[in-house]
Amino acid sequence: MSFPLPPNSTIGIIGGGQLGRMSAQAAARLGYKCHIFTPEMESPASLVSARTTIADYDDLKALRNFAEQVDVITFEFENVIAEGLDILANIKSVRPSPHILRISQYRIAEKTCINQFGIATAPWRAVHSPADLEKAIAELGLPSILKTSRLGYDGKGQVMLRSMADAAQAYPALASMPLILEGFVDFACEVSVVVARGADGSMAAFDVVENRHRDHILDLTLAPARIAEETAAQARAIARKIAESLDLVGLLAVEMFIDRSGKVLVNELAPRPHNSGHWTIDACPASQFELHIRAVAGLPLPPGERHSDAVMKNLVGPEETALWPEILQTPGLIPHLYGKTEARLGRKMGHVTRLFPRGSLPGEFGIAAALGPLAPR
Ligand code: AMP
Repeated sequence: MSFPLPPNSTIGIIGGGQLGRMSAQAAARLGYKCHIFTPEMESPASLVSARTTIADYDDLKALRNFAEQVDVITFEFENVIAEGLDILANIKSVRPSPHILRISQYRIAEKTCINQFGIATAPWRAVHSPADLEKAIAELGLPSILKTSRLGYDGKGQVMLRSMADAAQAYPALASMPLILEGFVDFACEVSVVVARGADGSMAAFDVVENRHRDHILDLTLAPARIAEETAAQARAIARKIAESLDLVGLLAVEMFIDRSGKVLVNELAPRPHNSGHWTIDACPASQFELHIRAVAGLPLPPGERHSDAVMKNLVGPEETALWPEILQTPGLIPHLYGKTEARLGRKMGHVTRLFPRGSLPGEFGIAAALGPLAPR
């Protein structure tokens, strides 16, 4: 297949969650069809896509058949096994390339790579044994955070260590795989930047946004982040540098901490659309999902400019989802629901966006008031 993909081509998306759903909705607007690969029946993405393959992520035969049927392959979920990635890449263009997925799947490779690009992270050490952990604690001090090197998300697979007793307890619980110990960052705020990059090296980045978590799950995104312009410029430059150094084709979200002295430290990379970019659907002419599809399909990338400031609030679990009727009655709340049938605790069911004229994001009370029934309690 040659790029740019002509209209009516089929984009294969690995993963069936809401990121795939919103990517498929953007693809449909650009005249493409999507074929979803997911183990889940009636996944949020399949509900809005032309075709679905239902199979496990390690079903190599199913991955091969899927690759034969699509024109390009991308991801909304990055934990496909290495062998599966090789099979896909032997048959079709995979964007972003498997080497980027392998790096982002493995915290040790991810941090090594970021530091090699000359970009700061929290201080960290690889931990392969109790003796490594003891040495790492001696070097980084307490408190610190022990994390699994793979498959951690929404705070899963990580434990804050405040004492040697915590360490002794946490190690056996996590140590079925290599771990890393990270120095605790007393951050002023958490921010992220979503950047798209095309095969020709062109790039488009969205504004730096501020992210607030509740119970380790993203709760609110404020766009733009209320940080010094100099710090924002630094965060944007870091995201672009990582995209370029990885030779990314596709979308990359870079999560960062701003420490109390204004220093930017990279926490994590996600080579796909990201929850902290959902606000772009309503506040930008071209959303993160459109830029994702454009980059993967080889279309030109419009700038990630916003026409409005925005607050995005996730709808998580049964309690917030139960507010849906009130949300629909509140003028100004832009509702998004992902088509999941069961509102389990901690599950992201949808989100709402509230727009403000560009340059007039309100303060804390204004934000709370603007969220109506979803105001923080
Ligand atoms: P992660 O799974 O690495 O994205 O971490 C999830 C959340 O834990 C982050 O969004 C932070 O709120 C917190 N966190 C992770 N690493 C650190 C750190 N080194 N220092 C302080 N907080 C952290």
